[in-house]
Amino acid sequence: MEIEVRTQRREEMVDITVEVAAAVREAKTGSGHVFVYCPHTTAGLTINEAADPDVRADILSGLERLVPRAGGWRHAEGNADAHIKASLMGSSVTVPIDGGKMALGTWQGVFLCEFDGPRRRTVLVSVTGPRDS
Ligand code: ZN
Repeated sequence: MEIEVRTQRREEMVDITVEVAAAVREAKTGSGHVFVYCPHTTAGLTINEAADPDVRADILSGLERLVPRAGGWRHAEGNADAHIKASLMGSSVTVPIDGGKMALGTWQGVFLCEFDGPRRRTVLVSVTGPRDS
């Protein structure tokens, strides 16, 4: 299935945990894995703290310090920093399913990381595992 995300800013981390959890519920599998994939070159996925929004802000500012937008990059489109940040985050995450739910840690959430928004983004979710009888 697909999750559509409309990002609002050039850079932001959008919590998509609820949407991914819904896909896991619909799949009706007690144990397996959920694979979440971002088919974009300037957005990525990560799992990190969902409780304190300051963590998201710090991740984005930390990435900006590592990979400044004005970094003398070659890519003519002007968004080289977004490509690099997307690669640092990665294009997929996999979460085990236990008891029909994602086995995330207490404070963890799944995030779409936008680095060249605002845009309409698609995230692909695929659940594997035996279907409950
Ligand atoms: Zn580009």
